[in-house]
Amino acid sequence: MNPAHNIYIHVPYCISKCNYCAFFSRAISPDWESYESQVLSEIDFWHNKLDRIKIPTIFFGGGTPSLMPVDIFDKIIKHIATKFDLSECAEITLESNPGTLDTQKLDDFIKCGVSRLSVGVQSFDDDELKFLGRRHDATTAIKLLDGAMKKNIRVSADFIYGLPNHNVENIIRLCDQINKIGLQHASLYELTIEKNTPFGRMNLKMPDNNIMADMYLAIQDNLKLPRYEVSNYAAAGHTCQHNENIWAGAPYIGLGFGARGRIFMENQWFEQSGGDIQFDAIDNKTRAIEKLMTGLRTLRGTVIDDDIKNILDFDFINSHNALVKIDGNRIYATDAGILILDDLLVDILG
Ligand code: SF4
Repeated sequence: MNPAHNIYIHVPYCISKCNYCAFFSRAISPDWESYESQVLSEIDFWHNKLDRIKIPTIFFGGGTPSLMPVDIFDKIIKHIATKFDLSECAEITLESNPGTLDTQKLDDFIKCGVSRLSVGVQSFDDDELKFLGRRHDATTAIKLLDGAMKKNIRVSADFIYGLPNHNVENIIRLCDQINKIGLQHASLYELTIEKNTPFGRMNLKMPDNNIMADMYLAIQDNLKLPRYEVSNYAAAGHTCQHNENIWAGAPYIGLGFGARGRIFMENQWFEQSGGDIQFDAIDNKTRAIEKLMTGLRTLRGTVIDDDIKNILDFDFINSHNALVKIDGNRIYATDAGILILDDLLVDILG
């Protein structure tokens, strides 16, 4: 029997493209029926390969999944339920953008199984939202968050910091607003400038690395929610179960164009992409490096299994305890290590 797999479903459509966005998404009017039939046939494909495995979590990411008609969403969930075992499915997350989801539509999604809503708020400042190329204003975002938090679901919001001219004051203000709203989960991402985006062509003057580090540390000092991953903060019991599973190295199926997955079947790992279904075997060392990279981003770190044991430089680790530590069978980065995680990863690979 193959092990349980989480499911990530990519919805690659948006109303318009944001100025910083390098995600795989297009601002077009989607043909939802052909999207649905493609996703359903991918579900069939993986059912044939993996059989009726357990699905611990489902995550609809984008793009803007909240644009999806609810009946299409319903058919996808029902089809998953006929092909896989959802009896222990702990979480179905829907990513959304303010302005694309009213109370009625949210209620309908909840009736179809959504148990967690992730809202792309990005900023509570209307000028910043315009600068980022977002289509909503702060009032619309707050209304969606307030309404969703009254429902029987878990609610998260995404924010971007480190805009040109941002400093610690901006972070403190943002954290105060998140605290005031009473969010139980928030993701705060540093703005990164990607080539082939409007921002990539604008020669923006970004805050320097010291200011960025101060802003990062200011989040921990000012946000009531504790950090559990580099960019993610949650009250106890409110972490994103889907992401926790993926970061811990659990297998997952990616459905829809732009989705990526990691399949584990017949004792072999495969990297997989949705759309024109493709999957290629990857060796245990490659998979161990991936697990280490995602696991070290989390506060609890990574379990040192046999494959990870083989790739670690224990001499480096033992002589750099201010950056990285081993506790029992886990390895984790300290607060100082998290700040230089990319460099640290290179150093601890033996
Ligand atoms: S809404 Fe999200 S996925 Fe869509 S363009 Fe903006 S940042 Fe990209």
